[in-house]
Amino acid sequence: MSPLLRQREQRCYLGKWQIMNSLCVFCGSAPGKDDVYLEAARLFGTILAKRKITLVYGGGSIGLMGAVANATLRAGGRAVGVIPRQLWDQEVGHRALSDLFIVDSMHERKAKMAELADGFVVLPGGIGTLEEFFETWTWSQLGIHAKPIGILDVNGYWSGLFEFLDRMIVTGFLKPEHRALVQLSSDPEALLDATAAWASAQDLAQPPRRAATAI
Ligand code: AMP
Repeated sequence: MSPLLRQREQRCYLGKWQIMNSLCVFCGSAPGKDDVYLEAARLFGTILAKRKITLVYGGGSIGLMGAVANATLRAGGRAVGVIPRQLWDQEVGHRALSDLFIVDSMHERKAKMAELADGFVVLPGGIGTLEEFFETWTWSQLGIHAKPIGILDVNGYWSGLFEFLDRMIVTGFLKPEHRALVQLSSDPEALLDATAAWASAQDLAQPPRRAATAI
């Protein structure tokens, strides 16, 4: 077990989840074709600042990623970026963040974001967002981490995916208890409350799954 995973498990075991100090947001590097997505991203960033939750994200200044970060900063919050060196130009690295980590690979980026965050929230996005979401969820399914995962459904963006997830349950490829590891809401405040409540419930149910054999 890597030191990073051991540290995560120990933090879970020590029960420090009751307060969500930081959240990793996965979302599109594109803005979407309807302003509703940018508005939702800005609102979410503002709410994070209001709740004094540090934003951890991919470090770009474009699309929904940039919109969340700018809104958090404008509202007086903290935004921390993690960006691979080779994506600095492509994703127009944000130059005014509270903290910035420049890493060497996509894998390092995800590991660093996961290390820095107490939970994850997914906003609308493309295949990069989906990849980040599914890896985070499969790690939760395997008991590698016990951090909450929330999906913000803007304008019904995720409804098709969740219909498909229901089909996976009906056909026997996804267990209902693993589906339940993810919270879905169209209301950002309700989503943040639900992820915090989920984290507290995990804390009460300690030790986390597999911790006994993993540590
Ligand atoms: P997209 O949803 O496709 O607009 O991508 C959103 C973000 O996910 C961008 O910052 C991408 O660089 C990032 N991304 C895409 N694939 C990966 C990956 N395998 N690991 C980490 N980040 C990724």
